[in-house]
Amino acid sequence: MADIKINNMVKFYTLCLLANGPKHGYELIQELKEKLERRISASNVYPFLNVLRKNKLIKFDKVGKRDKKTYHLTHEGKNFTKRMFSKFGDLITLAVKPRITTCPCGCKIYSGGHAEKIRGKTMKFCCSHCAKIFKPK
Ligand SMILES: [Zn+2]
Repeated sequence: MADIKINNMVKFYTLCLLANGPKHGYELIQELKEKLERRISASNVYPFLNVLRKNKLIKFDKVGKRDKKTYHLTHEGKNFTKRMFSKFGDLITLAVKPRITTCPCGCKIYSGGHAEKIRGKTMKFCCSHCAKIFKPK
C-alpha cells in the first residue's frame, strides 16, 4: 500500500474531489480554488498528481482532441482515500469529543440540549423530557 503523506489541504481536497469522480486537471484546480478560497496554480496540484500516478493511485485518460487528461482513482486509489477518510474521521471525532456530553438516557449531545439546575449543579440533558424523567424527586 502506498505511503503518501497528506500534509496539506490541497492534497486532502484533491483526493476528496477525485473520490467524487473523474476530473480534468483544470477542473481540479478550479474546484480547489473554490473550496480553499485561495490561489491555486498548476504547480500546487500537478506534482501531487504525479506522485499519485507513480503510486498507481490514479490513472488518466485522454479525452477529446486536445491533451485534456481526465484523472480518476484506481482501485488502490479508492482504498487509499477510504483509509484517509477514516483516519481523518478519527481526528474529527477526537476534536469534537471534549464538547460532547451524554444525557442520562444515553444520547450524545454535541450542541444544544437542555440544561437544568439540579441541587445547585447544572446538568445537561438531550431534551426537557429527559430532564423531567431523570430529575431526582
Ligand atoms: Zn436524553
